[in-house]
Amino acid sequence: MRTCKDCEEEKELEEFVPYKSRGKPMRSYRCKLCDKEKRRRKYLANREEILKRNKEWREENPEQVKQARKDYRTKNRPQLIEKSKIYYEENKEACQATQKAYRKSHKAEIRATARVREFRDAEAIREKNRAYREKHKERLKEQSRAYSQTHKDQIREQHAEYRARKRSEKEGDAFSPGLSRWRPFDEDDLEFEKYIEELKGF
Ligand SMILES: [Zn+2]
Repeated sequence: MRTCKDCEEEKELEEFVPYKSRGKPMRSYRCKLCDKEKRRRKYLANREEILKRNKEWREENPEQVKQARKDYRTKNRPQLIEKSKIYYEENKEACQATQKAYRKSHKAEIRATARVREFRDAEAIREKNRAYREKHKERLKEQSRAYSQTHKDQIREQHAEYRARKRSEKEGDAFSPGLSRWRPFDEDDLEFEKYIEELKGF
């Protein structure tokens, strides 16, 4: 047992801060609780100065900061995911509004990223889609049939639009208003033609 020099309480030796003096293990005469309290007071007294110094250090060492943040995220990934899930559930509406605003203001960027990914993973995506279609063959057939029944006019309109676009492209008309939602990529045309062929099959 030992008496703490701060709180003057008598406590077990393990309750005192251990340290080493010339390799020899020692125990402080201040208990762990008082030590903690003392360090807290010291921190609070110098808080502004410490925060300022830390900020300056971060500004001077951006690479270390980046790496440290990355390490932190890697190390705490499961907890961070769990935390953000909980936050999302508790602030669903605000989160969804933020996401919506982000998607709206970053439309081009999001689309570009998706295109890059598509090209990069084209083979894998094709394989995945093929497997999906194969697995859900019957359901997709049924869905497609139902869709073409309920959207006859729309499909006819789409076909007309598509033909008009093809025509204007052939005639070298660079600007065709109302058709801007078609993305100017050839593989989209192929996809669409495949889609039409599929529909014709029913
Ligand atoms: Zn104490």
